[in-house]
Order: sequence, then C-alpha cells, then structure tokens
Amino acid sequence: MIYQWVATETPVTYSRYMSVPENPPNVPAAGGSGRPLVEGPADPEHDPTASYALEPEYVERLTSRLLATSGRTVRVETPLTGAPLAHIPQSTDGDVEEAFVRARRAQAIWARTSLDERAAMLLRLHDLVLERQDEIIDLTVWESGKARKHAFDEPLHIALTARYYARTAHQHLDTQRKIGVVPALTRVEVNRVPKGVVGIISPWNYPFTMALCDGLPALLAGNAVVTKPDSQTMLTALLGARLLDEAGFPKDLWQVVAGPGSQVGTSIVTRADYVCFTGSTATGKIIARQCAERLIGCSLELGGKNPLLVLRDADLEKAAEGAVRASFSNAGQLCVSMERMFVADQVYDRFVERFVSRTKAMTLGASMEWGNDMGSLISQAQLDTVVAHVDDAVAKGARVLAGGRARPDLGPYFYEPTILEGVTPDMTCFGHETFGPVIALYRFHDEADAIARANEGEYGLNGSIYSQDGDRARAIAREIRCGTVNVNEAFGATFASIDSPMGGMRESGMGRRQGSEGVHRYTESQSVGTQRLIRFAPMLGMSDETYAKVMTANLKFMKKLGRA
Ligand code: NAD
Repeated sequence: MIYQWVATETPVTYSRYMSVPENPPNVPAAGGSGRPLVEGPADPEHDPTASYALEPEYVERLTSRLLATSGRTVRVETPLTGAPLAHIPQSTDGDVEEAFVRARRAQAIWARTSLDERAAMLLRLHDLVLERQDEIIDLTVWESGKARKHAFDEPLHIALTARYYARTAHQHLDTQRKIGVVPALTRVEVNRVPKGVVGIISPWNYPFTMALCDGLPALLAGNAVVTKPDSQTMLTALLGARLLDEAGFPKDLWQVVAGPGSQVGTSIVTRADYVCFTGSTATGKIIARQCAERLIGCSLELGGKNPLLVLRDADLEKAAEGAVRASFSNAGQLCVSMERMFVADQVYDRFVERFVSRTKAMTLGASMEWGNDMGSLISQAQLDTVVAHVDDAVAKGARVLAGGRARPDLGPYFYEPTILEGVTPDMTCFGHETFGPVIALYRFHDEADAIARANEGEYGLNGSIYSQDGDRARAIAREIRCGTVNVNEAFGATFASIDSPMGGMRESGMGRRQGSEGVHRYTESQSVGTQRLIRFAPMLGMSDETYAKVMTANLKFMKKLGRA
C-alpha cells in the first residue's frame, strides 16, 4: 500500500488572512466574555496540541461576527493534529431572539430592494469566493481535516450557486401571468412573496458549502437568514458570513448564532418562518415534528446509503476511477457518497481488481497542500463509528479487500479507504449509514435484482450507474428511488448542475435545494386576480337557474375551444 505520510506542516502564513477587513462587523458580544482565548502555548515545540493553529486575532475577527453573549465558549481543535483552533463563543436563547429581531428589521427593508440589486451582490460574492479561495480552503482544511482538493469543492460549489441564482433570478422570481378563468376579462398573476426570516441549520462535513448554499436563494428571494452552523466548523461558516458582508449584503440580514443543536437549533426552529435543515435523518425527524407543530414549512436534506451500479457494459477504467471518488471523497463524509456498490457478475472480478488497486494507491495525509487523495475524518465520534462498522462486519465474516484500519500515525482520526466484500444484512454497515470511507461490494446477476437491492432500505438520496449505453442507464435511473441519479459520474453531474433540484426521497429528506424548487421553497406564492366587466354572479336580472345554464354552456364551449 502506498498510503503516504505527508508532513503535517506547512505552517499557514498568517498574512494570508490579512485580507479580512479590520473593522469588526455589526454584532458586538455585548455583556459576555464570548472572546476566544488568545493565550499562548505551554510548550508548542513538543506538543502540537499546546499551540493555537491559527492566528488568534484572525479567529477573533471571525468570531466577532457571532451573536453570542453567554460568556461560555467551546474549544475547537483541528482534526489534522489536535491543535486548538479557537474557543467559540456560545449563544443564549436571548441571542437567538435578538438575532431574529435584527433579521426581521433588515428583511423588511431588503424585501423592497430590486431583484437586480440582489443578483448583483450574488455575482460579487461569486468573484470574492474565487479571489479568496485560498483563505476559504485553508480554513476549511484546518477545521475539517479534509484533503485540499475536497476543500476546493466548497468555494467551487458556492461560486456555481451564486452565479446560477444571480443569472436566473428573474426566471424564478418575477411575477408570472396565469390563465384567467374568463379569457381577456380575468387577469391573474402570481407573486413570489418572501417567507420572512429563514432558519438554516447546517452540518460540519462541507462547512463552507453547507453554511452558504441554501442561504443564497433565500436572500435572493427577499428573506433574511438566521443560521446555526455546526460547532466543529464555525470559523469557516463565519468566514462565509464575512464574505457576504463584503459582497454588499446588509449585515443584519445574515445572523449567525452558535451552540448545541438541541438548544440553539430548537430556538431557531421556534422562531423561524421556514427552516432549512441539513444533517442526520434522526435530527431531521425532530425538526419536522417541531415545524409541523408551528405549521411552518421546512426542507430536510438528510442521510443516505447510496448505491452505485456497474452494469456489464460499463467502461471499467472509468467506473473504477469514478468509484474511488464516489466512495472516498471527503473521506466518505459526504451525503451523496456511495456506500453500496452492485457490480454485474460478468465484469465483477475485472472491476474489483481495478477499484482495489486504485484505492490502495491513494495518498493520505494531514496537510494544507495539494496532492493528497484523502484527508482525516473530522472527529473521534466519526472515527468510532467507522471502526465500529468495519469491526462488526469483519467479526461477522466480511472480507477486507483494501484498508480496514485506523491510521493514528497520520493524524488522530485518520482511517484508510476501505473496501468490504461479503457484507450481509446482519452487519451494521449493511443498512446503516457509515458516513465514512467504507464501501461494500455486491455481485448481481440480473439488472432487475440489482435495482431491487439498490432500492432496499429507508434511504433514497443519490444513486450512480456506470454503463456505456446512456439510454439504458437513464431508463434504469427512473427505477432507482433516489432524488438524484448520476450516469457515468458519482455525484458531480447532478450536484454541480445547480439548475437541477437536489434532495432525498423517503428518509433522505423532504424538499429540494437547487433549481427553481431551491428558491421557491423560500417564498409564498400569492395569486392576484383582477376581474373586468362581468362578475361571478347572475347579472342583469338573470335568475340563478339561468345563470347556471349559461355557465354550463360556457364550460362546454371552452372545452371545445381546447382551453385549459
Ligand atoms: P446532525 O443531525 O447531528 O447535526 C446537523 C446539525 O443539526 C448541526 O448543526 C447540529 O448542531 C444540529 N442539531 C443537532 N440536533 C439538533 C436538534 N435537536 N435541533 C436542531 N438542530 C440540531 O448531523 P451530523 O451527524 O452532524 O451530520 C451528518 C449527517 O448529515 C449525515 O447523516 C449526512 O448524510 C447528513 N448530510 C446530508 C446532506 C444532504 O444534503 N442530504 C448534506 C450533508 C450531510
């Protein structure tokens, strides 16, 4: 195996960060200490965990964007080495209340701005994200431990999202004429009215993307946002907030609060006009119940146990290359990552040989530099889950074709990309999401059987099919019960095509991000009908009975005319 140790270092030159504006943004941590600790290390030369990985002043500029007055802080460490990054100030219920007050005030003004003005800010954000990608990527790698190439996906996705919604703003949000009931005399149009203040609760796995991507269409539609990113990756999310400020969005329009999901997340759900949640299915169900109680809408982007099918006519080199990205991008901590692979009997051995050898050739390492194929898991909890799933499978008879062990020599939470064979329903990883670099291989004899097995279980997020016959693959895609299906690609073809809706069927979610659904969820449609000359009641002394006859004749005539 060539899993390489790539030196942890490359100390980040802090001057890289000096482009962050000096002036702290609008949110003072009134009353609370809330200030990240900036004391120096005890003995940094001998213990990496004794020194701060980031320049404290830089951290402080970011955390000053938080509304957090509790005086409590949570220490966050980099998964690369365990070195402390920051002490994140925590928000109280009162802070969340204040965040909503400020957001509502800002939203009332924002809703009167023109679509063109909002779209221009999105395009400025697009440019800023590309210009400042090094800073975004550095911070993302520090906080998440992912490989640099996977961190790059984050500014890439936000730039795509910003450009898409800026360029299609009018298409989605302009008032639309509809068919009036009486031709020429009934004019009906539909307005897209912003919901108000949207609550966004996001996870740690793609901290920059997940903190921003759902909020951009919310802003475009005239809403304000109160967001609670995951505590482990707050700094990257706060950098996103700073970039929104720099792009020209009014600061109070985007509020960031911090704290445990069960407290601060719940505080948001009890106040928001709409909730956009990304995270586990278990938490999604709690949030769905809370939203139902308040009769507010929500979109839920949840977990998956995603299947990839290699058909017998697949290009095996392409399939093996795609299977590596499908299974091990971001160390498998990706909602659309594959965890089950169904391979046609006729090509099974040849495919597996290629897939295993590509996997064993992957480079792993804790580094800020380009070049690694995979980075760290984010936390001990993630590592524990991965170890438990693999150990359970092996104890019950699964075979390890690649990987299968933790790599503390590379960093505290590293785990090798792992391919399992012989996984059976009694093993935890058969049906439960691992959310790590672990893929189970299964043979299939006929495609109907493969489709049925791919559709097993409660999830339905993302599927992938490799075949040289695009028409056949797309026909099979229609039978896969997943919100997205990629042909000859793992997930990028749908996820990066922002015009296409993205989300889960069954327990993988409700609602969709991206495309028109991704922005319409943040609006109420309002129909405005204007009637001319006639009214919907008997006129000119006509009896009710005559009116009914006239209307009946009218209905028949309209049908003959072919009217909708
Ligand atoms: P999680 O549900 O534990 O946490 C996600 C977010 O919800 C965090 O910010 C957390 O603080 C908050 N939260 C937790 N409990 C809460 C509660 N009771 N009320 C309100 N907020 C609460 O999820 P996780 O384990 O951190 O993230 C990984 C999961 O997210 C995986 O299952 C993955 O598949 C899923 N995910 C899905 C998508 C998607 O687009 N479908 C994208 C990324 C991750």
